[in-house]
Amino acid sequence: LSLSVPPMPWFGLDIGGTLVKLVYFEPSDQAEFPESAISGEIERVKVIHRYLVTNKAYGETGVRDGHLELSNVHINGRQGTIHFIRFPSCRMPNFISLTKSKGLAYMSSTVCATGGGAHKYADIAQMELNVKLHKFDELESLIQGIEFVAKYNPEECYFWANPLDEDACKRVTWPWSGRTSSDPESTVPDGLQYPYLVVNMGSGVSVVAVYGPSNFRRVSGSSIGGGFFHGLCCLLCDCESFDDAIELAAQGDNKKVDKLVRDIYGGDYELFGLPGDTVAASFGHMISPERRKEASKADLARAALVTVTNNIGSIAINCARSEQIDRILFVGNFLRVNPIAAKSLSYAMDYWSGGSKKALFLQHEGYFGAVGCLEKLVV
Ligand code: ADP
Repeated sequence: LSLSVPPMPWFGLDIGGTLVKLVYFEPSDQAEFPESAISGEIERVKVIHRYLVTNKAYGETGVRDGHLELSNVHINGRQGTIHFIRFPSCRMPNFISLTKSKGLAYMSSTVCATGGGAHKYADIAQMELNVKLHKFDELESLIQGIEFVAKYNPEECYFWANPLDEDACKRVTWPWSGRTSSDPESTVPDGLQYPYLVVNMGSGVSVVAVYGPSNFRRVSGSSIGGGFFHGLCCLLCDCESFDDAIELAAQGDNKKVDKLVRDIYGGDYELFGLPGDTVAASFGHMISPERRKEASKADLARAALVTVTNNIGSIAINCARSEQIDRILFVGNFLRVNPIAAKSLSYAMDYWSGGSKKALFLQHEGYFGAVGCLEKLVV
C-alpha cells in the first residue's frame, strides 16, 4: 500500500446550509492484503460496520440512503463500497457528541470536509474529537464528485422523456462519455462531454459552467432555492418536513394561486410567444380575498414549488444561452423525492431552447460534494 494513503476509515463530509452529507468508503478487499499491511484497519472497519452499515437510521433524523450504495469502487488501489448518509445540519452538535461517545472519533484523525459548516465546526471538531477538518471548496468538490460517480455508475445520468405526458413519460439513461446505455430504447448518440452546466439546487442555488475536469466557473446563483420552498411551506401550509411539503404540493393546483398570462390577456401573449398557461405573476391571485379563501394548503405548496422551479429554470436557460452550453445538469437535494420539479425543468429547458438544450439529472442528487471530498482525502 502506498505511504501517501491515509489509514482507514475514509470519510467525506459536506456540511451544508440544511443537510449534512456523509459518505463512507468501506473496503471489500481486506482478504487480499497480509494482516501486517492493514494493521488496525480490520478492527476499525468492523466497529464502523456495526454502527453505520448495519443501521438504516440513526437517532430520529439520520438516514442512510441504502438504495444509493455504490459497490466495486476503486480508490487509490483499494476496492470497496461507498455508503451515503445524511442528517440535518442543526444536528451537527449531536453528531459530534455521538461520535465521541461511540468511540468512533479516535479512529480518524483527518476528515475532508466541505460546505459552510466545514468552517463553522472546524474548531469544535478539533476540540471535542481531536479531528482535523481539512477544508475544501464546495464547488470544486461538487464537480469532482459528479465526475467520479458518473465514471463508476453507468446508470447515474438520466433525462425525462415526454416529461409532461403522464402515460408516456419515463426516465431514460444518458450514457456518460463513451459508455453505451443499458436502455435499448435510448437513442442518445453520445455521452456528457464538455462543456456542461451544473445547477446545484440546495438551500440556495449555484450555477457552474464546466469546461474541463478542473476548468469551471460559478456563473450565477439565487437565494430562491430549496430553503425558500421549504420555509414558505412551513409558513403557509404548516408543513414540518420537506417530504410532507412535496407530498402536499403533489396534490395541489398552482393555477388557483398564480396569475397566468391568460388571466391577464384572455389567451396567449402572441407577439412574444408566451403561451396562455405561462405563470405571469406567482401568487398573483392571492391579492383577492375570495381567491385566498378558495386556495387550499396543497395549492399554496404547489405554487411555492412552481415558483422556485420556474425561477431556477429561467436562470438556468439564461446561463446556458450566454455560455452557449447545451447540456444542463440539475443536482442538489431540492430534487430529492421531487419528480414534479425535475419534469417541469425538463419541459422548460426543451421548450425555451426550441429543443436544443437538454435537462439532465443524477441519481446521487445531493451527495457529490461529499464524494468529491472523499476523493480529495485519498487521491
Ligand atoms: P445544502 O448543502 O444547502 O444543505 P442540499 O443539496 O442538501 O443543500 O439541499 C437542501 C435542500 O434539500 C433543502 O432546502 C430542501 O429543499 C431539500 N430537502 C430534501 N430532503 C430534505 C430533508 N430530508 N430535510 C430537509 N431538506 C430537504
